[in-house]
Amino acid sequence: ATRKKHAGWVGRRQPAKRMTEGRDTRMTLTDHIRTLPDFPRPGIRFRDVTTLMLHPEAFGDAVAGLAAHVGDATLVAGIEARGFVFGASVAARLGLGFLPLRKPGKLPGETVSRAYTLEYGEDALHAPAGLVAPGTRVLLVDDLIATGGTAGAAVELLREIGCEVVRAAFVVDLPDLGGADRLRALGIAVIALVGFAGE
Ligand code: AMP
Repeated sequence: ATRKKHAGWVGRRQPAKRMTEGRDTRMTLTDHIRTLPDFPRPGIRFRDVTTLMLHPEAFGDAVAGLAAHVGDATLVAGIEARGFVFGASVAARLGLGFLPLRKPGKLPGETVSRAYTLEYGEDALHAPAGLVAPGTRVLLVDDLIATGGTAGAAVELLREIGCEVVRAAFVVDLPDLGGADRLRALGIAVIALVGFAGE
């Protein structure tokens, strides 16, 4: 039987491993990421982690893979919205706290903010002022790094509220867009579980 690589594996636990003509065709994390052409704009190939999140083993593997890179961080920060899913899961797995970096208009109370340019638009991130102890060592998590505009703004924001960003961990890197290198230039160790070359 032919199965779609990523669709329809929902609602019950499926083996990540299957055999085809005696060959081990274990699906990799890459296989669980759906690619949608021309979303949200023409020319953008959207790497959708929804299919990965829907698959229990792949999701667990991704969270474990990210958590392995915590280093000596004592707090996990995640970028709204998909960074919340992975970041909060990593934090809970490691017994650490979680700091949400939010889009404008969402956080109550006093905030610190940074505007940034996205691969397909502009946005800003906010962090709460005065809630995190200065000097806290942070692991930054998001689903994907492209140009690094978002994560770069997150790093600046975290530094502005007094955090030390020790690492940044992503499920997906689009290396040709240079975001990971941009973060490394800011002195951040960067890891990604999956890379898509070409864009
Ligand atoms: P960037 O700021 O260019 O590194 O873009 C990273 C942010 O935008 C992440 O929060 C991603 O969720 C989202 N993003 C950018 N490009 C893509 C893409 N091709 N596929 C999926 N998500 C993307």
